[in-house]
Amino acid sequence: MTNKNKRPSWDEYFLKVAMLVSERATCPRMHVGCVLVKDKQILATGYNGSIPGDAHCEDDGCIIVDNHCVRTNHAEINAIAQCASHGVRTKGATAYVTNMPCTTCSKALVASGIKEIIVFSDYHDTLATDFFKKANVPIRKLPIPNGIIKYDLDSYSSAKKIDFDKE
Ligand SMILES: [Zn+2]
Ligand SMILES: [Zn+2]
Repeated sequence: MTNKNKRPSWDEYFLKVAMLVSERATCPRMHVGCVLVKDKQILATGYNGSIPGDAHCEDDGCIIVDNHCVRTNHAEINAIAQCASHGVRTKGATAYVTNMPCTTCSKALVASGIKEIIVFSDYHDTLATDFFKKANVPIRKLPIPNGIIKYDLDSYSSAKKIDFDKE
């Protein structure tokens, strides 16, 4: 199999989705993405962003308390909140997160019944590892997936490249 056609593993796939989701984050201090997955299905995604209707950090500035920005809900909380607002059960799901969860998010993930955490990046200043350990929730740290998401349009029959110059 050539490298060009290598399909990502499930873990790589969901981590890449988490990376993509993080692009929507609105706080310039950190961009985080979270994907909740159960039985290889995505239950919800989340990125760190303001509550609906509120101003974004990148427009109106962060709200800093104790050296942390508190304007946004974190990616993990937003993914859990999306499940809550749509009546989706999180028990037994796996959380793919771009960064190691913070203390608050780790507790929310445990309380939501998340059974495994998969991350590729560390986060400073967190008691998350302690809380996950107490709750018997394993954390798997994987290498960062290829930073490039490649759309090989020429090989796809459903997504054709449009030559705009010719139109
Ligand atoms: Zn902020
Ligand atoms: Zn957090």
